[in-house]
Amino acid sequence: MIKNISRFVNARVFGFFRLSWLILIFPAVSLQAQPANPDFEVQKIAPDVYAVIRKEPPSLWFNPNTIFIIGKRDVTVVDTNISSQYTREVLAALKKLTAKPVRYVVNTHWHEDHIIGNRVYREAFPKVEFIGHKSTLVDLPTIGATNRQGSVENGRGFTELLKTLIGKGENLAKQKLTEEERLGYSSDIKLVESYLKEAPDFQIILPTVLVENRLEFDDGTRKIEILYLGRAHTGADLVVSLPKEKIVASGDLIVAPVPLVGSTSYPLEYGATLENLLKLKAKIIIPGHGAVQRDEAYARLMIRLLNSIKQQTESAVQRGENLEQLRKSVNLEEFRKAFAGDSQHKSFVFQNYVFLPATAAAYRQLTEKK
Ligand SMILES: [Zn+2]
Repeated sequence: MIKNISRFVNARVFGFFRLSWLILIFPAVSLQAQPANPDFEVQKIAPDVYAVIRKEPPSLWFNPNTIFIIGKRDVTVVDTNISSQYTREVLAALKKLTAKPVRYVVNTHWHEDHIIGNRVYREAFPKVEFIGHKSTLVDLPTIGATNRQGSVENGRGFTELLKTLIGKGENLAKQKLTEEERLGYSSDIKLVESYLKEAPDFQIILPTVLVENRLEFDDGTRKIEILYLGRAHTGADLVVSLPKEKIVASGDLIVAPVPLVGSTSYPLEYGATLENLLKLKAKIIIPGHGAVQRDEAYARLMIRLLNSIKQQTESAVQRGENLEQLRKSVNLEEFRKAFAGDSQHKSFVFQNYVFLPATAAAYRQLTEKK
């Protein structure tokens, strides 16, 4: 085609020909090869099971992976996004795979990056049910609301700060900005801006189907199990298990490449909860954020990290240390290296999403018990 066109192109007809080439050829090309969304990749994990894996680089704000489980009559979706805008893009990807309606949306926990987009499914499928842990009913309107207020109040200042730092070529720790940090901060700015744009109009949808320990149903193709395996990333994380396919969607129990322990976590029980996850004997773990895991290695590394946090913080509190002293005695350097390697940016993420919140949460757990 191109060869034929170039044969006819000369100075006189070039203008006309180029125009007609654009009109005639371009629409046909763009209809055939629908451009993939640059922010995520839809991966087929098993027949009728797809993972929407986010491509935002690991950084300080988060957008979760989504899972589509296509049953005989309808679809179960695991987790929505940090804004309706992102969820609409994910729903558009689902519609390319199937015309079946979404019957269930499972929210693995109450953190808002996993729930803000719920309304998109309600608007598209009025009969949709939202499955959540029963404590979400209490947590979302209380700690959830406080969290949300903080994110909205601080969001604008945070994006301004990141923009200034990018301009100055400096990172949050006042070091020289690396390229990884620049990409991470740029992604954070995009996520926060999308979230803030929706903030005046947030519609927080509470679960309509509650799970305490276990909920099981058949979608006509397979058994779907929704399980509570113990406290970990929050007080009530749910995982979705497909025993036939040996797939587990772990929510934020597993986050890669750097774990997300976070300030609303339960570090003393987190390791044991991950052991329960591995007892499901899944061959594939789809994490809340990050790449699909096809063996236990990453989960085992997380278990070692969490067990080390538990053991070191327990010893520190037994020695009578306060939080400040405990943070000096607890050493997670081996794990920082394992998760962050030589990356300045991932080390910062480890410090702020593992070391600082995990030591605070473990200290809180240990001193509350007394
Ligand atoms: Zn979370």
